[in-house]
Amino acid sequence: MADRETLQLTSESRSQPQHETILQVALPVPLYSLFDYLPPEGVEAATLPPGVRLRLPFRQRQLVGVLVATRSPEAEGFSGKLRRASTLLDPQPLLSGETLALLRWAADYYRHPLGEVICSALPARLRQGKAPLDPHQPEIGWQLTRDGAQRPLTKLARAPRQASVVALLQQRPQCSEAELRQQLGDVRDPLKRLHHHGWIEATAMRPLPAVESETGPPLNREQQQAVSAVTAALGHFASFLLDGVTGSGKTEVYLQLTQAVLRRGGQVLILVPEIGLTPQLVRRLQRRIAAPLARLHSALAEGERERNWQQARSGIARVVVGTRSAIFTPLPELALILVDEEHDLSYKQQEGFRYSARDLAIVRARHCRCPVVLGSATPALESLYNVSRQRYQSLPLRQRAGAAQPPRLELIDVRGKRMVAGLSPSLLQLVSDTLASDAQVLLFLNRRGYAPLLLCRNCGWFAECRRCDARMTLHLDRGILWCHHCGAQRPPETGCPKCGNPTLVPAGEGTERLESELSRRFVGVPVVRIDRDSTSRKGSFEQRLEEIRAGHHSLLIGTQMLAKGHHLPNVTLVGILDVDQGFYGVDYHAMERMAQTIIQVAGRAGRAERPGRVVMQTRHPDHPLLLTLLREGYAAFARAALEERRQAALPPFHSQALLRAEALDAELPKRFLHEVQQCLTSSPPELLRGVEILGPIPAPMERRAGYLRAHLLLQATTKNALQRLLAAHITALPRLPSAAKVRWSIDVDPMEMM
Ligand code: ADP
Ligand code: ZN
Ligand code: ZN
Repeated sequence: MADRETLQLTSESRSQPQHETILQVALPVPLYSLFDYLPPEGVEAATLPPGVRLRLPFRQRQLVGVLVATRSPEAEGFSGKLRRASTLLDPQPLLSGETLALLRWAADYYRHPLGEVICSALPARLRQGKAPLDPHQPEIGWQLTRDGAQRPLTKLARAPRQASVVALLQQRPQCSEAELRQQLGDVRDPLKRLHHHGWIEATAMRPLPAVESETGPPLNREQQQAVSAVTAALGHFASFLLDGVTGSGKTEVYLQLTQAVLRRGGQVLILVPEIGLTPQLVRRLQRRIAAPLARLHSALAEGERERNWQQARSGIARVVVGTRSAIFTPLPELALILVDEEHDLSYKQQEGFRYSARDLAIVRARHCRCPVVLGSATPALESLYNVSRQRYQSLPLRQRAGAAQPPRLELIDVRGKRMVAGLSPSLLQLVSDTLASDAQVLLFLNRRGYAPLLLCRNCGWFAECRRCDARMTLHLDRGILWCHHCGAQRPPETGCPKCGNPTLVPAGEGTERLESELSRRFVGVPVVRIDRDSTSRKGSFEQRLEEIRAGHHSLLIGTQMLAKGHHLPNVTLVGILDVDQGFYGVDYHAMERMAQTIIQVAGRAGRAERPGRVVMQTRHPDHPLLLTLLREGYAAFARAALEERRQAALPPFHSQALLRAEALDAELPKRFLHEVQQCLTSSPPELLRGVEILGPIPAPMERRAGYLRAHLLLQATTKNALQRLLAAHITALPRLPSAAKVRWSIDVDPMEMM
């Protein structure tokens, strides 16, 4: 969100001639410019490398900024009185020229203030101006004391948390606190007690052994071809789409490529959607890769995160596995970028600096002249489009590795059926048959909570959020109504506020209701629910997965969380309770997402010798795209969906940018966007060629968290046309008459139209 006081400030501070080299500094403020300063007293500006931090005065405050460039005052021929930076904080640059170039590119493309973009690429401690951590300082971990190693675990029978720490330490010589936390959740307290009682002691973590502890299977022909194609491209830019069904051995390809790059002395950056959801990939990497590996994601403590970042930056870490923001990690010897599950929505930041890490991976690879591999069982439509335009080279993996067979997809028409806990009679029958055969069942419903509606059967009233145009979801286990859009909570009404009817009924199903009704129906069958509510404690998601793999649960109920990257070899029946939920959304992306989810969920099943069966409930059994998906698979679906997008002139055939505005007053967002529209249309005709400006219109959910929201959509035949138009106007937008009265943002290549 931009600020208006902007540009006056920079000019106001220039009123006397200067002859010193001028520093151009990025500051963490929502303004589109860099700021000019004189070097700190006694510092020779010409010797300062870009990428060092400076502490400097800005308005009434002291800020930490990053030096981006220097310039000589004569060359610019300008005069002015500049303020002086107070202190130089780093002798060596923290951000390399390559990283700064990427950040500048990204700020430019996504039209976000450069200073915020650059400063947010630093770990928080460094943003605050603290001294950098020494990456050579070994990480502190824990090991059993000699005494502790001999004591029987039964001594801790009454302290299960402590016992699980000791059990883990019995399996390995030492373990970092980060690793313990990842496996077991917050263990600070058990560690303190164990240390106090002499079970464990602190130790400096030793580097990993320099041998690969485990070798992989010999690759099949397609895997081999994929590895050869990418290794042949090492040393220059090339982009690949590793397009292989779940279980076809993509991870195996990543592992071998990583090893190949490590042998040549390069660093590898691996992006994953959410680290908590992909513990298996990290573990497989740790087992197979002998080189130091650093993880970067938001669940790390600040110090840990900075240490890992420093290890990447200094070249100590050879492999970096991270989520979205890891794309900006400085890596001096970056030689390969892998993007796992490239279709995943979490690669796009949905607030503030709205970048796509997947798309920036391509840009970064081009800057660094290295190959980039996007991998998915369900590639994004735009990635398949890029294959068809020969921008990406396709590396198909058509067979499942090993003996596993592809699952069978079927539809159940639920119109007019008597549903029990969201299940039609035939699905219910399948579930009990499968449970009787001793296999696991996975029921997928992307709706958490007990019921999406609390309803009065008498007058039709239902519980709504007071701050959003949305219904409240009933969460029975917490005894609350909860708005999934703004987070508002309140106790459920005890009777109808409109007609006085004393009974309100929960209508529809969420995962919580499925869990309770199905446990009642299948007595004695162990049921587990996996969603954000049931796994909110750190480490509990992984723990659940372990239990599932160990066969402690027979009936698994899950949301999107269960659709991602987990091998659940004993699941032979997958039920998707409501496919229509995704196929009819206000957002044109909805169908693509649902198709991806179906294939991803289906991919969890039938991995071993038992073939999987996937059953989807629908009220629209004739939907042409759904039928294409079912009969011909994801690739055919994608072709048909792309054809629809082409005819509708939607992305990826056209380029979009979405301007959003919101305010407490309904008129203001529309007025502001109107001003934007007029500003844009005042451009010379050549800037408007090929660009359509649609709106302003109210957002699909007009009121959210008390704010009224409106949209203005820009759509262009090419990315260039869109970028040229935005570039010409972006700095003027914060100065439009209504800009100060609304919260507004710009989203280039929006992935959600809400
Ligand atoms: P994906 O990442 O595409 O889901 P994985 O790489 O995880 O697939 O492979 C799925 C399973 O098949 C894993 O258990 C893996 O060890 C095994 N696997 C992969 N490649 C081969 C191969 N060439 N031969 C035998 N087993 C393989
Ligand atoms: Zn009523
Ligand atoms: Zn709400």
